[in-house]
Amino acid sequence: MNLLAGQMMQIPLLISHLITHAARHSGDTEIVSRRVEGDLHRTTWAEAELRARKLAQALARLGCQPGDRVGTLAWNGYRHLEIYYATSGSGLVCHTVNPRLFPQQIAWIINDAEDRVLCFDLNLLPLVEQLVVDVPKVKHFVLMADKDRMPAETKIPNLVCYEDLVAAEVGDYTWPDFDENTASSICYTSGTTGDPKGAVYTHRSTLLHSFASALPDSMNVRATDAVLPVVPMFHVNAWGLPYTMAMVGCKVVFPGPFLDGKSLYELMEAEQVTFSAGVPTVWLGLLNHVQTNGLKFSSFKSTVIGGAACPASMIQTFEDDYGVEVVHAWGMTELSPLGTLSRLRSKHLGLPEADRRALLARQGKVIYGIDMRIVDGDGNALPWDGVAFGDLEVRGHWVINRYFAHTNDPLHDGWFPTGDVATIDADGFMLITDRSKDVIKSGGEWISSIALENLAVAHPAVYQAAVISVAHPQWGERPLLTVVLKPGATATREELLAFYEGKLPRWQIPNDVVFLPELPHTATGKIQKLKLRAAFKDHTWPQG
Ligand code: AMP
Repeated sequence: MNLLAGQMMQIPLLISHLITHAARHSGDTEIVSRRVEGDLHRTTWAEAELRARKLAQALARLGCQPGDRVGTLAWNGYRHLEIYYATSGSGLVCHTVNPRLFPQQIAWIINDAEDRVLCFDLNLLPLVEQLVVDVPKVKHFVLMADKDRMPAETKIPNLVCYEDLVAAEVGDYTWPDFDENTASSICYTSGTTGDPKGAVYTHRSTLLHSFASALPDSMNVRATDAVLPVVPMFHVNAWGLPYTMAMVGCKVVFPGPFLDGKSLYELMEAEQVTFSAGVPTVWLGLLNHVQTNGLKFSSFKSTVIGGAACPASMIQTFEDDYGVEVVHAWGMTELSPLGTLSRLRSKHLGLPEADRRALLARQGKVIYGIDMRIVDGDGNALPWDGVAFGDLEVRGHWVINRYFAHTNDPLHDGWFPTGDVATIDADGFMLITDRSKDVIKSGGEWISSIALENLAVAHPAVYQAAVISVAHPQWGERPLLTVVLKPGATATREELLAFYEGKLPRWQIPNDVVFLPELPHTATGKIQKLKLRAAFKDHTWPQG
């Protein structure tokens, strides 16, 4: 083909451009943080950018080389935001780690990513002291706190104070230019089969995701908004909000670790928050608080809810009782995470109320930049008729093509298999009907059924174990342990649950145990969890 070359500038899509843009064009716009220390901290985009530059200098002084991973164990706050930009902006890779995981899991993830530096919040000091011996490749530990909060004594060698690092630099640093396909950050999925896997995002994928997420039919975030990211910055980069917020230059309100209904409500009111995003469980707590105290929102206008299926009743309560628009979204770590959002097309505007609501309760349509399809067990594309269901596959500008340090190709025919099972209707509205994975999603956090089963079968009385997810009114889903005891052996429910104590974080321990004479198996000898789930779908959870 004899194509004509275009004559447009080519500027790499780099994350540093987001914060320099925010500092230049919305420099005095506020970033408010509820700190783990309890107080409220105020800064601006201009100050955050300057401090990010100083931190980039400090990380270089610590010996970080381009491509090195910098781990974080931190809640949503301004220092975490500065780390996002200082690392990615200077060619390092920001690796956010979920502090709610068990210390062994955290250490495994830090070792897999080979983090060179680990930055952490003050209330996570005891956790880091616990895992320090297990992460030998971490050369520097940075406590994200003021100098007067530094511990007098600690088991952590090379512990440095974040504020000392920043204060030692002048910030005469120019963000470097490099290839937009350079790695910018890494997030780990929770292991469905075996160990967690890292999704390595690029500057380009992150910037394109930010453009898409800000669109009116996407998150619709604007300069006039005050945005409170409830979704943690260690959960798929808070769904990209730290980047989107800089792109649009809005006010930022960070809640720290305080995600209970009362704390959220008070912060939202005090800072006049207009938009937020999070998993259904957190919104359940917020709704409970406003309902029981007869409160109203004075500024809250709209929220994106995703990460787990959002119940239709929640959408209705937000809209009818509080005038808050709910946008149901679906995504995953491997998708940076945004895939679909439930937004109407013009043909739906005249729909009867019940039909409109039913449509909006679905996971919705893809945003531009992502394509999806459903396929049957043989990989054949299925019709978009709202009835046929199959394995959901996606592709697009911010979908991974490989996992960190894995050589095998996870793609199927160029498409990424999500592990979710879905229908798609003729208008392109997707509905997740099931997941082919067996992990349990409790309050927006994954619990691996395999990990629970492996521990259960370590009990001397247990012959076989299968853990399934069963609906729970508060947590969405909770693990139910089903066991077959060894012939002649005895064990009580309490004994088996106590067996998990100290081996896993408390929130991962199953809520109940069911004893069975045998487990259903497939022809190839695998436990048929679908059958178990169907049998116990109405299981009554014990109180407390
Ligand atoms: P994660 O990588 O932890 O964000 O988890 C991604 C998975 O969460 C998806 O593959 C889905 O199984 C589930 N998920 C995310 N959003 C939704 C949603 N709106 N409805 C149902 N499941 C969801």
